[in-house]
Amino acid sequence: MKKISIFGATGSIGQSTIDLIRRVPDAYDVVALSGGHNVAQLARDAIELQADIAITAHDARLEELRSALAGSGVEAASGAAALVEAASRPADWIMSAIVGAAGLAPGLKALEQGTTLALANKESLVCAGALLMQTAADHGARILPVDSEHSAVFQALVGERIEEVERIIITASGGAFRDWPLERLKTASLAEASSHPNWDMGQRITIDSASMFNKALEVIETREFFGVAPEQIEVLVHPQSLVHALVGFRDGALMSHLGAPDMRHAIGYALHWPDRNALPVARLDLAAIGQLEFRAPDLQRYPALRLAQEVMRRGGLSGAVFNGAKERALDHFIAGRIGFLDMASLTEEGLATLEAQPGLIDASMTLENVTRVDDLARRAVDQVVTQRTG
Ligand code: NDP
Ligand code: MG
Repeated sequence: MKKISIFGATGSIGQSTIDLIRRVPDAYDVVALSGGHNVAQLARDAIELQADIAITAHDARLEELRSALAGSGVEAASGAAALVEAASRPADWIMSAIVGAAGLAPGLKALEQGTTLALANKESLVCAGALLMQTAADHGARILPVDSEHSAVFQALVGERIEEVERIIITASGGAFRDWPLERLKTASLAEASSHPNWDMGQRITIDSASMFNKALEVIETREFFGVAPEQIEVLVHPQSLVHALVGFRDGALMSHLGAPDMRHAIGYALHWPDRNALPVARLDLAAIGQLEFRAPDLQRYPALRLAQEVMRRGGLSGAVFNGAKERALDHFIAGRIGFLDMASLTEEGLATLEAQPGLIDASMTLENVTRVDDLARRAVDQVVTQRTG
C-alpha cells in the first residue's frame, strides 16, 4: 500500500485527489489530511479514508474538528506548526495543494523526509524555487508537477534532454475577461472574476486566471521547475484549454500535450508516475472539436505577465515579494476594497517599495527570509490601500 498525505485536502485539487484515491481505497494508506475552514468536509474524508491525523490550519476550528472526529480514532490537530509536523510523518507521496505561500513550510518539511511531493502549490515555487529544489536534491526527494501546464511539459520531456529544448510554451485560456473591452475591466466585479470559462477551480486561482496573475506565477514556475532561461518561456492564449503546453526543440519540432480540462489528468499522472494508469477523464474527440484556436497575449490587458518578466530578471527574493503582494492585493479585491485592475498596480507598487530597500531582495533564500519578505510585501500593499482609500 502506498502511504499518502494530502495538504489542502478540502480544496478543489484536494477533492480531485481524494476522488482518485477513493476509487481504489485498498491501494492507499492515508497518513494526513489537512484543510482550513471546511472542517466538516475534512472530518468526513478523514473518517472515510481512515487517516491517522486531520489538521485544520485554524486553531479556532480545532474544537469543531475534534468533536466531528470523536470516536473515529483519527487524531485532530491545528495550526501552522501542526501542518509542518504532519508533513514530517513518513509517506511515499504527498500532495501539496494548500493555496498560497502557506504551502511552503509543509512542502519543505515533506521534502526533508525524501518523499515524492506532488506540487500543485505553485506559490511555493515562485517564492522559494531554489530552496525547494535544493532541499529536494539534499534529501533525495522528488518534486512532480501538478499544475496542468507543467505536467504537460514534464510529459513532453519524457525521454528528451533539457539541453535540446529551445522554448517552452504554456497556454492560457485568457480567463473570464479575455473578450471584454479593456475599459470595462476597471468595473469587473468579484462575481464576474470568480467564474472560469473552462476550469472548475478554487476562487483565488480563478480570479488569478482572469487577471493572468496565475499565468505570471506559472511562467516563473516554469523557470524554476525546468531551469530554462526567461526568454525561452512563452505564453500562448488558447481559449479552449485543450492543449496544455508545447515544448519546442532545437530541430524545430514541437511536442504538445492535449487533454480534457480536468485536473484529475495531471493529479493522476503524478500519483501513478512513472506508470500511466487508467483515469476517469473525458477522451477528446478532435473531429467533433474541429478547430483549435491560438493567439498572442495582450500585455496591456495582462500587466501581470510583464511583472513576471521583471521578477525573473531581478531574481533573489523578488518572487516572494511578488507573490505576497499579489496575494494581499487579491484579499483586498475579494473584500471589495479595491477594483480589479488595482491588483496589478498594487503588486507593482509593492515590488518597487521592497526592491528599493537595500539588501532585502538579495538576502539568502531561507524559509525565515522568504517568510519575512512575504510579510513585508503584504504590509506594503496594505499601506498603499489605506492611503488610496483614506
Ligand atoms: P482551494 O481554495 O480550492 O483550496 C485550498 C486548500 O488550502 C483548502 O484545503 C483550504 O482549506 C486550504 N487553505 C486555505 N488557506 C490555508 C492556509 N492559510 N493554511 C493552510 N491551508 C489553507 O484551492 P485550489 O485547490 O484551487 O488550489 C490549490 C493549489 O493548487 C493552489 O496553489 C493553486 O494555485 C494550485 N492549482 C490549482 C488548480 C485547480 O484546478 N484548482 C490548477 C493548478 C494549480 P479550506 O477550504 O478548508 O479553508
Ligand atoms: Mg495551470
